Amino acid sequence: MWYDVVIVGGGASGLSCALTLASSRGRGWSWAEGKRYLVIDDGRSDMNRSLFNNVPGVPKGTLGKELIRTIREQIESYGGVDFVEDRVVRAEGERGNFRVFTEKGAEFESEFLVLATGFHRFEIEGLGVKVVENRRSPKPGRVMVVHDGNFKVREGLYVAGLLAGVSSMFTIAAGTGVQVAIDILSIWAGKPVVIHDVPENS
Ligand SMILES: Cc1cc2nc3c(=O)[nH]c(=O)nc-3n(C[C@H](O)[C@H](O)[C@H](O)COP(=O)(O)OP(=O)(O)OC[C@H]3O[C@@H](n4cnc5c(N)ncnc54)[C@H](O)[C@@H]3O)c2cc1C
Repeated sequence: MWYDVVIVGGGASGLSCALTLASSRGRGWSWAEGKRYLVIDDGRSDMNRSLFNNVPGVPKGTLGKELIRTIREQIESYGGVDFVEDRVVRAEGERGNFRVFTEKGAEFESEFLVLATGFHRFEIEGLGVKVVENRRSPKPGRVMVVHDGNFKVREGLYVAGLLAGVSSMFTIAAGTGVQVAIDILSIWAGKPVVIHDVPENS
């Protein structure tokens, strides 16, 4: 099945990336309409173990599990994003012809591929990415994928969240997912894009 963007990982960064991509719909931007996005996630987000007291705008005491649910509902309110519960075991290709293979035997193709799988390990074969120690982790043995400093690994292939080597704080991880989404949208638009909403009658 074909998607414009496949995001591997549905935690803080992957969901934030999907939300921003989805929010480009319905704005009269011809280059954004009809785009299809996929999040593949196997349910191991660090958010499942988190209690959030210090995430801006999120009420103190919010469980990470609740926040996952809320963000997914936000994404679904825009449409255009499919969710698959599965583990990606292999991926290959270049911009325009990525192929992603899952443990359950599914196969997906995409123009862009975003890796947002957290920093515990990197288990996806076939992409030829360079995996090194995540030096911002307070615990040893955490990993990151080498990128160009702007989350691009190579044309069409991006990394977001802790796998991009940022510190393990929700807002930082989420922000990298948003940046990746904005960079992809800007490529399609052929110019820098932001997505801002304003109140009615302002
Ligand atoms: C106990 C705990 C408490 C925390 N408390 C706070 C806090 O109070 N404040 C704060 O700001 N931050 C907190 N954090 C940190 C925050 O949860 C993380 O920084 C954030 O979740 C990282 O986002 P991410 O998208 O990089 O990774 P994750 O949210 O971990 O998401 C990665 C996702 O990728 C999926 N995945 C991995 N490999 C594959 C694969 N091959 N195929 C498919 N899916 C895959 C995983 O299942 C997971 O869902 C806490 C973390 C922990 C562990």
